[in-house]
Amino acid sequence: MNTFQSLGLQDNLLQAITDLGFETPSEVQEKAIPVLLESESDLVALAQTGTGKTAAFGFPMLQKIDINSRTTQGLILSPTRELCLQITNELKHYGKHCKGLNVVAIYGGASITDQASKIRKGAQIIVATPGRMKDMIGRRLVDISKIEYAVLDEADEMLNMGFYEDITEILSHTPQDKSTWLFSATMPKEVSIIAKKFMHNPTEITVGHKNVGSDQVSHEFYLVNARDRYLALKRLSDANPDIFSVIFCRTKRDTQKVAEKLIEDGYSAGALHGDLSQNQRDLVMKSFRNKQIQMLVATDVAARGIDVDDITHVINYQLPDEIETYTHRSGRTGRAGKTGVSMVIVSKSELRKIGSIERRIKKKFEQKEVPDGMEICQV
Ligand code: ADP
Ligand code: MG
Repeated sequence: MNTFQSLGLQDNLLQAITDLGFETPSEVQEKAIPVLLESESDLVALAQTGTGKTAAFGFPMLQKIDINSRTTQGLILSPTRELCLQITNELKHYGKHCKGLNVVAIYGGASITDQASKIRKGAQIIVATPGRMKDMIGRRLVDISKIEYAVLDEADEMLNMGFYEDITEILSHTPQDKSTWLFSATMPKEVSIIAKKFMHNPTEITVGHKNVGSDQVSHEFYLVNARDRYLALKRLSDANPDIFSVIFCRTKRDTQKVAEKLIEDGYSAGALHGDLSQNQRDLVMKSFRNKQIQMLVATDVAARGIDVDDITHVINYQLPDEIETYTHRSGRTGRAGKTGVSMVIVSKSELRKIGSIERRIKKKFEQKEVPDGMEICQV
């Protein structure tokens, strides 16, 4: 078995890995790290969510940049504010023994002047959402003309969210001869297009099957009358008193409503969606990470890619429109070798979607009955 040492990482990074308690590299790390360390090649890496992609690009980037220089050399684009903060935080841990390292997060909804002043102090690495990054380039608050490594993290998601033009604009301000590393859980057509457009002969790495979710997650569905959705949610939660879960709704409005009802009914819940202020979002994420709330009710956009330890259940309060979104949702659990359950509350009219998802994820759902109170939930 490979060790982190055998991948070619230097001592100060190996020390951080020991501190973090990572024992062996994950498959994507094993495949990507040596390639990134040894060549200046572009890279396309496809690996399901929760497989350790952040470290797969983070460690090579930290090893390759010149920490003694204050020039911005690494740029990581990521779809949401939460992910930016999460990646920044991870990189700070990975680089805790890299003296003088400065990683700055750039995202909307927070003060642009504060972010600009952090960058002026000299950030070797910037982690940014495309929207705010483009804005800062336009205002000349950031210089990315010396970037050597650009990462497109969760590329499928960034494209889903309509960031294609922003990404194009941002990359046009970076040098032609930089290396571009693209990471994605799935490989829809849009991702192949962007890979062709921005990359030269990339090395390709695939871990597991394309577009398939984690093996650590089991999938269940609960058939209920559409009007009993909320009741089913409560009963599923009652039956799992230690539940620590993300509950996905389709709209911001439903997200807010379901969270409010849960709180009213005495459950430990919080809402996460784009209509909340950045401050509110940070607060709810913090309480969720600290396990002060057990149920995070969220929209897809707000919860995409978040990595919180030990999530036991993902509950699809409503199914998403896109099958790929289901893969992303269920990927919030079953992370870092742990197991998890992805539950779908489904009404009769949506039942055929379950079949489409099964074909995509190449796994079967187990049909289960809502615990207790079948008299109400039965179709
Ligand atoms: P992805 O981006 O592929 O969804 P992350 O980079 O967010 O995955 O990593 C998922 C979790 O696994 C994180 O909590 C991370 O700290 C942990 N992790 C990453 N690499 C390892 C490793 N080699 N050993 C143990 N845990 C790891
Ligand atoms: Mg990730």
